[in-house]
Amino acid sequence: MHSCHAINCKTEIEPKLFMCYKHWKMVPKKLQISIWNEYRPGQQIDKNPSVKYMAVQQFAVGEVADKEGYEDEAQIAYKSAAKFALLWKQADEKANQK
Ligand SMILES: [Zn+2]
Repeated sequence: MHSCHAINCKTEIEPKLFMCYKHWKMVPKKLQISIWNEYRPGQQIDKNPSVKYMAVQQFAVGEVADKEGYEDEAQIAYKSAAKFALLWKQADEKANQK
């Protein structure tokens, strides 16, 4: 078990889940789908999620924090999402050069 990834939420959830039900419902549908698409079974065990997963995951944390009024935390999460999105873009560019 681990706790929900939403800011200040201590709800314990299954390792394969990203947020508790209450917070998951606050994540926009498109982002929910992206999180499931990028989720790789076992990533919570080897602690090695992809940059794509981290980008969408951090963006979702930001969206929920923003809805709950945690503006500073939302900004931090958005910045983190942008950082992972940049790594994602660089990896794609590298792949396209081959
Ligand atoms: Zn929660």
